[in-house]
Amino acid sequence: MIKFLDLQKVTESHGKEINEAVSRVVNSGWYLQGKENEQFEKDYAEYIGTKHAIGVANGLDAINWIFRAYIEMGRLKPGDEVIVPANTFIASILPLSENGLVPVLVEPDINTYEIDPEKIEAAITPRTKAILIVHLYGQCAYTDKIGDLCKRYNLLLIEDNAQAHGCKFKGRRTGSLGNAAAHSFYPGKNLGALGDAGGVTTDDDELAKTIRALANYGSTKKYVFKYLGRNSRLDEIQAAVLDVKLKYLDADNERRKQIAEMYIKGITNPAVITPKVTDRDAHVFHIFPIRTNKRNELLKYLADNGVQTIIHYPIAPHKQECYKDWNGWSFPISEQIHAEELSLPISPVMTDEEVNVVIQLINAWES
Ligand SMILES: *Cc1c(COP(=O)(O)O)cnc(C)c1O
Repeated sequence: MIKFLDLQKVTESHGKEINEAVSRVVNSGWYLQGKENEQFEKDYAEYIGTKHAIGVANGLDAINWIFRAYIEMGRLKPGDEVIVPANTFIASILPLSENGLVPVLVEPDINTYEIDPEKIEAAITPRTKAILIVHLYGQCAYTDKIGDLCKRYNLLLIEDNAQAHGCKFKGRRTGSLGNAAAHSFYPGKNLGALGDAGGVTTDDDELAKTIRALANYGSTKKYVFKYLGRNSRLDEIQAAVLDVKLKYLDADNERRKQIAEMYIKGITNPAVITPKVTDRDAHVFHIFPIRTNKRNELLKYLADNGVQTIIHYPIAPHKQECYKDWNGWSFPISEQIHAEELSLPISPVMTDEEVNVVIQLINAWES
């Protein structure tokens, strides 16, 4: 069977170093807020190209802490509107709700699946205070137009970089393009830990300091509490593992790009739409999304032939029960993507033979 993602093999590919790193922490007797966090934060900030990286418990918390910190700093207040793509993973939107901010959904571009820069301005109101762009599927969502809108309307630009570690826009890494960025190191992400983990990158000293405090009970100094915080720390074992895997991230992403190029060149079935890549640096293929109007049939056909695929995502955020009030809203492009998208297997450990099997099966599929 060709797995969607063989995580055991991914870990094994750097197994010796990962095991050494884990043992080092286990034997050190120091498990939180120590040298491993310090080293990973330093290396990750340098990699992304920001002044600060702050390790936190997971990607959703990373988004949450950015917005919560801006509220504590007086830059945002509950009721402010934040523009966000309608087709993102729901974890981009939940932290807005948690902080009393108002998510304003904007349609994606049907060709890129990223937020449509041409549709943002119409969604801006006097209450709009930020844009949360999401580099969905591993592709850069930032455009100069989005940067210009943020300047013109004095909006914060926040990046959800959960799916795009290593991606670049004109030579700069995603995660360094706006005021702050959230990163998830969930095991299946391009840079994945062996459990939950996340981080924030920013050049803003005050934001970094506020987030460090919020994610550590709201404490600015031991036993001195400035905010009603939570415990949302990155542990030493995960930091040590991430620091090992960071060294191989560019090579791992290069392999993803090669596989994507094989798929794009190889898949010729006219019933299937493959992604269009205009800038090789600007897509790290966390996901390889294809579209077909017989998505469920193709999923079943591939499964029957031993190929695991996943849908990202089957139900749009505005159709979810947790956002009942939005269920009547209409976002036709987003809904079309949710109805037609299928993610093919892709990972740094996939072999050429496996990729060719998937290509041949898809080309032989009679829709
Ligand atoms: C994975 C993901 C998150 C959430 O990250 P966790 O570490 O799972 O909390 C947020 N946004 C996007 C786009 C994601 O893919």
